[in-house]
Amino acid sequence: MADDSIVQRVAELRRELHYHNHRYYVMDDPVISDFDYDMLLQELRTIEEEHPELVTPDSPTHRIGGDPAEGFVQVEHRHTMLSLGNAFDDESLEAWYRRVRNLLDDADFSMTCELKIDGLAVSLVYEDGVFVQGATRGNGFVGENVTQNLRTIRSIPLVLQGDPPPYLEVRGEVYMPVESFRRLNEERAERGEQLFANPRNSGAGTIRQLDPKVTASRNMQIWAYSLGDAGDVPGLPDHWEALEWLKSLGFRINPNNRLCYTVEEVKDYYREFVERRHGLPYEVDGVVVKVNPFNYQSSLGVVGREPRWAVAYKFPAERAVTRLLEIGINV
Ligand code: NAD
Repeated sequence: MADDSIVQRVAELRRELHYHNHRYYVMDDPVISDFDYDMLLQELRTIEEEHPELVTPDSPTHRIGGDPAEGFVQVEHRHTMLSLGNAFDDESLEAWYRRVRNLLDDADFSMTCELKIDGLAVSLVYEDGVFVQGATRGNGFVGENVTQNLRTIRSIPLVLQGDPPPYLEVRGEVYMPVESFRRLNEERAERGEQLFANPRNSGAGTIRQLDPKVTASRNMQIWAYSLGDAGDVPGLPDHWEALEWLKSLGFRINPNNRLCYTVEEVKDYYREFVERRHGLPYEVDGVVVKVNPFNYQSSLGVVGREPRWAVAYKFPAERAVTRLLEIGINV
């Protein structure tokens, strides 16, 4: 049984995390750094693992994102838009890999390594090749209808090429390029307006507001990173082939994606992008590793809010900054 101080700490962590989730997901205006947030969540997760009797269904460890904001029409996702488990070092990545291998009876499998784009997850629905609905992840089950805003993003195809199926749902990350963010803040400074804290929050805020003209003026972009649902498309055995197929339909697929066969190759990819991340024209906060074959993904399944077949290997925090540093006040 957990003693009183642990019960109290759990309550405190949940209260804080609920507050930060609201600031981040609903208001697009966080007050602590992602690193600090991740540490709070990690602490809660560790206590819950040691004291399973303290787990509640509404714990932040079990919830995805935030509830859809008022003012938006809500969209129910046909398939839940999940979160990802995290690895913060080589040991936890290797532990994930061993667990997966074990569950697959020691089978060999390929993995895709992708950059974890620091933006806003969206679901794009196409009917007969025409873009009909775009939504945010929201709480994973219900998101916000942001179709009109997404229509203004040039790299989101409005009509697909090739031979699209009658129904297609694609997922991707919408983001504000670093250069657009810099320019936007310069313009705001000239007008004496409050500056945005970082590209992630200004990008998310640009999509989660009600005027498509504002979105259109901010040069937003997308990287598509998975097939949500397309019914049965023949000849798509794995995630890598699905991405190739999405590219042929006109989606923007990140050229840095890489197919890996061993955990060593995954680590090399990670180390390469720890070095290269700041040379990229968009912000990334880690690497997403996904088991590639679809049949293995299905047998691994989902636990709670996370698929077992994927993990986000987060980049080391450069500075555990708070809002004070982010808005340019030296502490
Ligand atoms: P997650 O870490 O669970 O990862 C899932 C998300 O990764 C997806 O929804 C998608 O948006 C994104 N993603 C980017 N590239 C991808 C790719 N190639 N393949 C698949 N997914 C990709 O995301 P989450 O649950 O939104 O969030 C947690 C993140 O938000 C953490 O980094 C956390 O620090 C931050 N956060 C910060 C605060 C704060 O107050 N600072 C509060 C809440 C969350």
